[in-house]
Amino acid sequence: MSDTPVIIPRSDHPISRKWISQNAIRVLYRLKESGHLAYLVGGGVRDLLLGREPKDFDIATDAKPNEIKKIFRNCRLIGRRFRLAHIHFHDEIIEVATFRSSITDEESAVETAAKGPADALLPTHDALPVDSTASGPPGFAAVSAVQSSAHAERPRPPRMLKSGDGMILRDNVFGTPEQDAIRRDFTVNALFYGIADYAVIDYVGGMEDLRKGLIRIIGDPVVRFTEDPVRMVRAVRFAAVLGFEIEAKTYEALLDHKDKIALASPARMYEEVQKLFLLGEGEKTFQILRHTGMFGVLFPHVDAWIDTEEEGFPHIWVGKALEWVDTCVQAGRKVQPHILLCLMFGQYVEKKAARLRSGGMAPLDALDTAVAEFLAEIVTRVQVPRKVALAIREILWNQGRFEKTQGKAPLYFLRRPGFADAFEYLRFTSELTGERLELRAWWKEFIRAHPVMQGEAAQPPEKHAPAQARRPEGQKRRRRPRRRGPKPGTPKT
Ligand code: ATP
Ligand code: MG
Repeated sequence: MSDTPVIIPRSDHPISRKWISQNAIRVLYRLKESGHLAYLVGGGVRDLLLGREPKDFDIATDAKPNEIKKIFRNCRLIGRRFRLAHIHFHDEIIEVATFRSSITDEESAVETAAKGPADALLPTHDALPVDSTASGPPGFAAVSAVQSSAHAERPRPPRMLKSGDGMILRDNVFGTPEQDAIRRDFTVNALFYGIADYAVIDYVGGMEDLRKGLIRIIGDPVVRFTEDPVRMVRAVRFAAVLGFEIEAKTYEALLDHKDKIALASPARMYEEVQKLFLLGEGEKTFQILRHTGMFGVLFPHVDAWIDTEEEGFPHIWVGKALEWVDTCVQAGRKVQPHILLCLMFGQYVEKKAARLRSGGMAPLDALDTAVAEFLAEIVTRVQVPRKVALAIREILWNQGRFEKTQGKAPLYFLRRPGFADAFEYLRFTSELTGERLELRAWWKEFIRAHPVMQGEAAQPPEKHAPAQARRPEGQKRRRRPRRRGPKPGTPKT
């Protein structure tokens, strides 16, 4: 790491403006015209340098959030842990962040704080609407470079807030471009691209690590993983998706400190889990997570179950499910989170349900209990939203319906909104286990023979079944009650 950055001129790197979103270019120019520094940063620059299509374009600037808001009418400020500006365009949101600085230990002058459940104090999502009245909770070290004493009766929230354990709870201390680069997670994620001269600016040796294919944390790995344990999960994701190695010291710290992942916000971890397994390299990601023991921290019960053997074979279900999901994603199909989780953990839940049934529980109750138990097992690590949990339960519930191939039942099932998800699960399970293959073939034929019905199932109910059509026969339409008395404003006679 050096004070003077390495500047890679346009002639020496492959980034062309053609590959950058027009909206991002517009934002960069507008900030520059308003007298500010502004760079394209993060994964966008990394991916462009690797010849990959970036997922999104992030911008960093010296303009403060309120200044950004004044420059762009289409701007919304979001986030508490990390305050950001979102510039809204017709089909895209460009994220603009003010350069940050991480406060050093000397500056922080951390008051000794009672240790507590830091996790409970993190916002459930990074991008929560700003709550300007929130202040640091008691028992935690509040570190603020700019905390105002003028507002004694209503103190401003601290810009930097760390738990007694060193975990970052809020992170809004503004800084220089260099400070901003070194507080990012990995060297390959800390490269800047500017429109003033189209050069790439490298403060942290990111270009060299890109060439070597290394995921290297910036700074002391133990400090950086303690500040934010989600960085460990991100390291694995980038290694798998980019096909990179995790650098030796980074890897060592990850092995030693993986248990801290359990301290991260479960809601944030749910978002990360989707990124881990839905980017087309889920199976590879899973192998690295298992190898490092991180899968066991995230999903301890499932991890233990994978290690048990059935008929002499360890459970291969989760890896096979992820291979299936990867094939879909690589073919350009979007896999919804409830399908992902159901495919990954379906067998684990079904085995639980089978045990409950053999203990005398009714089948649907057993399934409900099994799903609830599974969610309770993971909720302190990964918090699955209720809507997603219900969708998982519905897929498993619906599996029994495939057996009913007589009378009107198949047509009725086909028209239900949950049919497609349930059938996806049947396709996967029959392929993996070799069971129910005939049933799957029967349904495939049935679907082919009823294309219209399938179309109907795919549409929202109101489109093909207007309110009148759904009214039971013989029931009259209710009229709006007639207004009694004169209309408001009618002169009294
Ligand atoms: P992706 O391709 O998945 O979007 P990304 O690198 O752009 O990858 P983002 O989550 O979009 O990842 O974050 C943008 C940038 O913000 C990162 O490249 C990194 O520089 C920085 N960043 C994100 N999360 C962290 C973190 N937990 N700690 C430090 N820096 C982070
Ligand atoms: Mg990104």
